[in-house]
Amino acid sequence: MANILYVVIPCYNEELVLEETTNQLNNRYDLLIGEGLISEHSKILYVNDGSSDRTWHMIKKFHEQNKRISGLNLSRNWGHQNALFAGVFTVADLADIVVTMDADLQDDIGVLEDMILQYLEGYDVVYGVRNNRASDHVFKRVTAKLFYRVLEHLGGEIVYNHAEYRLMSKRAVQALKEYKEVNLFLRGLVPMIGFPATTVAYERKERFAGKSKYSLKKMISFAIEGITSLSIKPIRIVTSVGVIVFLISIIMLIYIFAQYFLGNTVPGWSSVAVSVWAIGGLQLLSIGVIGEYIGKVYLESKHRPRYFIDEFLNEEKEVR
Ligand code: UDP
Ligand code: MG
Repeated sequence: MANILYVVIPCYNEELVLEETTNQLNNRYDLLIGEGLISEHSKILYVNDGSSDRTWHMIKKFHEQNKRISGLNLSRNWGHQNALFAGVFTVADLADIVVTMDADLQDDIGVLEDMILQYLEGYDVVYGVRNNRASDHVFKRVTAKLFYRVLEHLGGEIVYNHAEYRLMSKRAVQALKEYKEVNLFLRGLVPMIGFPATTVAYERKERFAGKSKYSLKKMISFAIEGITSLSIKPIRIVTSVGVIVFLISIIMLIYIFAQYFLGNTVPGWSSVAVSVWAIGGLQLLSIGVIGEYIGKVYLESKHRPRYFIDEFLNEEKEVR
């Protein structure tokens, strides 16, 4: 029996690209089914992440026309990561293979076949890794590199130049389900599962149409989220810096006393001012970092749900 593939695609206001994405993917499915690589019961699952445009309307229409298209409507905009989880977990028991990708055709669907071949070789996770960043602006290129560096430095296992285009086997998805934290960061978690993994290179294209849904603000919060969910090293760094500053201040104290007894008690205001600013700044930064984690503990302790599903359109479910 060939494997049932579900490609999970989060969509947030993607009315401009959905038609083209559907056509291209549908043709690709025909090829893959023809080659016997995937089952004819394979599906394309669009997750509507609270779009305010015609996205859900279109998904419903596609589903009516073609039962290969499934749709999952979330109750509101829960964000890219949560939309991915909603999709992946919803099909966890229906799919043998789950592939996640963006709606905008930036992820080259041409390498789907390579991914599946790697899966058939016995890999549980296949990361789509872009072989260049030509389609990115300089700013995104620089910040992305910095982000990966920081994560790596903090001890995260990170696949460079890999976003959310990846294949996961059924057991990899089941493993992912075991992580109970509310704020999940897929890119950091998937490598932690530990099952055999490999990469497939692809060329990342320009967005087919529409605008990026990641504003600078979203990118920054995504980066902080990723770093703090992966590692507590920043707290350690703050602690080490605190210890160093404390040691320096003891030396300063001895120095100041020595100066006092030597009678050189004409203090320059500059050194005072500098240390006030330096230590003040350091304290604020440290409190901020620690606060970041306390906030996280607070949010996690509430065990809030990650998403709510409004509607799941899937032929399979109705038949079973
Ligand atoms: N997306 C989503 N919810 C959001 C933001 C984005 O589901 O709140 C989806 C979006 O529709 C797309 C994918 O996440 O399919 C990646 O977004 P985008 O292409 O805008 O990001 P970029 O490629 O610019 O990093
Ligand atoms: Mg994109």
